[in-house]
Formats: sequence, structure tokens, C-alpha cells
Amino acid sequence: MAPRAVVLLSGGLDSTTALAVARAEGYECHALSFDYGQRHARELESARRVAAALGATAHLTLRLDLRAIGGSALTADIPVPKARAAEAIGTGIPVTYVPARNTIFLSHALAWAEVNGAQDIFIGVNVLDASGYPDCRPEYIAAFEHLANLATRAGVEGRSRFRIHTPLIALSKADIIRRGRELGVDFSLTWSCYAPEADGRACGLCDACLLRSKGFAEAHLPDPRAADKGPPPPMSALGICFVGALGRRLNVRVRLAGCLGRRRSWTFPPPAPSAACCGAELADAASAAGST
Ligand SMILES: [Zn+2]
Repeated sequence: MAPRAVVLLSGGLDSTTALAVARAEGYECHALSFDYGQRHARELESARRVAAALGATAHLTLRLDLRAIGGSALTADIPVPKARAAEAIGTGIPVTYVPARNTIFLSHALAWAEVNGAQDIFIGVNVLDASGYPDCRPEYIAAFEHLANLATRAGVEGRSRFRIHTPLIALSKADIIRRGRELGVDFSLTWSCYAPEADGRACGLCDACLLRSKGFAEAHLPDPRAADKGPPPPMSALGICFVGALGRRLNVRVRLAGCLGRRRSWTFPPPAPSAACCGAELADAASAAGST
């Protein structure tokens, strides 16, 4: 009989690949997701699709009202940072950190594992691209594993030796994408954006969108969800000014002419910066980046 594992599944690239790894290692997977009041609850639809596509034996979505606690741009009325430079994303603890989230999630996974007779818990944390999250670090994972075996009846009675698996912890986003692709993951099912647009598309500018774009670019693979960011409008309708490189990426702010009147933004892998930059737009972009 296949060993059972509980796999934390948000519906993003990382947790989806972690589930694929667990399946490839022969585990009977019980996927666990959380409807915690997150701004991007759209990810739960992806989690459902991913769990079905990767053959999870069970998929449980627990409701937790972390919005009542707040303290994060994902669970409170705090703006989600947009268009941050890659260097900024990789340093410090961002406002999208949800207080103690992985401890909350792993605690629930541990409870479900104890009931299910599972000794193994998979979590798709990684430290390279988003090093600012304290509950993604190896020392945190080791401490939680120690706790798991002290805090449960199954652990104390010696019936279980809980292990927390972090198969992605030392991988870059590009490595994770390559690993998922090797395992047959359909990344079109996944969702990354923290701040979906009103029409349901990914914003293309939050940290999660930028890391996703960077990962696919560095893996030299197309993002099957890239169309979510919307097709570029007709060139004849545009006045385009390049607004400067942020890290290894170029952000382009586009003013639509005439009745369209709405400002839209895209990011994409780095073409060479244009010499035709508009000074006012550069200042505007610097101000926008600084405000996040
Ligand atoms: Zn986004």
C-alpha cells in the first residue's frame, strides 16, 4: 500500500510542483488548501483543478478567517506592492507576508496527517527567490518537524515519525518550473497573482506575478497563463513610452489614446531598453515604484 502524505496546495506553481513530486515519489496524496480570506481567493479554483489533474486521493479546503486578524496585504486593506525590482523582492519581509501563515497551515496539515495515518507532509516553500519570508527557511521547517513529533499522540506513542518534506526549498523559480515540467505539470491550471484585476486576470505587476514571469523567462519556457495579462492593444492606438528597467525586467506603461482612456501596464522579459524614453513617464514610474 502506498504511503500517505498530506500536501499543502495553494494552487500556485510551487505547491503544484510539490504535489507532483509527492505523487512521483509514490505517495497517496491528500491535498489541503485554505480559504483564509485571501485577496486572491481565485487560487482555490486552481487548487481544485490541480488536485484533480495530479490525482490527489482527497482534497480538503478548510475555512479560516485570517482577515479577522489582518496584518497583511493579502488579508487586510493594505495595497499589494506592484512593480518592485527583483532585488527588492528578494530582501526584507514584504507586506504580503501573512503572520504565521505556514505555522497555521502546517499545524492543520499535521492534524489531518495524524488522523489519516500519514507521516509525511509536503510544503512547497523555497528560499531563493523570495528569501524574506521567515517561515520558508530550513531552520523553521526543522523546528516544526521537531514540534510535530512532540505535539501529537501519534508522535508520542511512537506510531508516527512525522517528516516535513520541502522538495523545492533550494530551487529557483526557474528550477521549479523545469522540475514541474519534467513531471508533466500543466502550469496553465495554476494561479500566482496576489492582486487579480476586477475582470479576473492576473495583474502582471505584483511580486508573485513578477517572480512567475522571471521564472518562466529564465527557464526559457512560455507561461501558459501569460494570456491572462491581456493581449496588447493595437499599436495604432497607442502612445508608448518606456519607463525604465526594474531589475532584469522592463516595465512598459502604455497610455491608450482617445476614448479608451485607461492606463494599463505589462511586464515582459527584458528587451533592450529603448532610447526613446519619455522623461515624464520615467518620473511617473519611479514614483509608482517608490510608493510600493
Ligand atoms: Zn499579480
